[in-house]
Amino acid sequence: MAQSSGIEWTDSTWNPVTGCTKVSPGCKHCYAERMAIRLSGMNQPRYRNGFELTLQHDLVRLPLRWRQPRTIFVNSMSDLFHEDIPEPFIAEVFDTMVAAHWHTFQILTKRADRLAETAGRLPWPINVWMGVSVESPRYLHRVERLRQVPAAVRFLSVEPLLARIPLLPLTGIDWVIVGGESGPGARPMEGDWVREIRDWCVDSEVPFFFKQWGGVRKGRTGRLLDGRTWDEMPLAVLRWQHADSPSSARTRTDLPVRTTQADAVSI
Ligand code: SF4
Repeated sequence: MAQSSGIEWTDSTWNPVTGCTKVSPGCKHCYAERMAIRLSGMNQPRYRNGFELTLQHDLVRLPLRWRQPRTIFVNSMSDLFHEDIPEPFIAEVFDTMVAAHWHTFQILTKRADRLAETAGRLPWPINVWMGVSVESPRYLHRVERLRQVPAAVRFLSVEPLLARIPLLPLTGIDWVIVGGESGPGARPMEGDWVREIRDWCVDSEVPFFFKQWGGVRKGRTGRLLDGRTWDEMPLAVLRWQHADSPSSARTRTDLPVRTTQADAVSI
């Protein structure tokens, strides 16, 4: 199902796969699982299998029908590099992203080993951004795997932030998103954990996006950090991406030097 998104850092979602299985503590209160169970209970046909991994073959080409450029979060209800998704299916999803060059696609995974192992066989046009989730220092190896991927934008989703992460490795990283857990059972996040990452991003000239404090009622805690919002994005890449079309033939190696870090802009 494709739809506009309430996620602060994207416009729309596109789910050619639904359902997943848990791999690390960040998955404990998985939002996608909660939503899938709810939609299954409402007899939504896409979720007839609940949170069981399901390939939605008829949605693979969907973004080609959206004529207006959008920023699209790929598989908000799953993980594109899940071990049970056949590689030819992942390749089909990438073929669509190559063809739909007027959109920007954001992919996020916790399966960084499979990502790194597969990346060399996939195309990486400039409109595909690739990220990994890192919830605590124990999962910093995912950043190492991400660095091996020649995506135009490599980003970190540090959400839910479950522990202090001193000196988050930022070499080769173009964007950092931080957020606290929300919903029933939300685990706490300390303000100083967030400030430490923000200050490190500022010092390293890496765009920083603070998504939310989270908590059981995230509407009450909001997303102000020390009196302001932090909505930085690697906008220089976006501007360059849309400067002339098609972008599908260009890759990270064609980017102007340091454009993502030096030209960080708040929106
Ligand atoms: S990897 Fe993502 S979608 Fe899959 S269970 Fe974990 S949090 Fe949920």
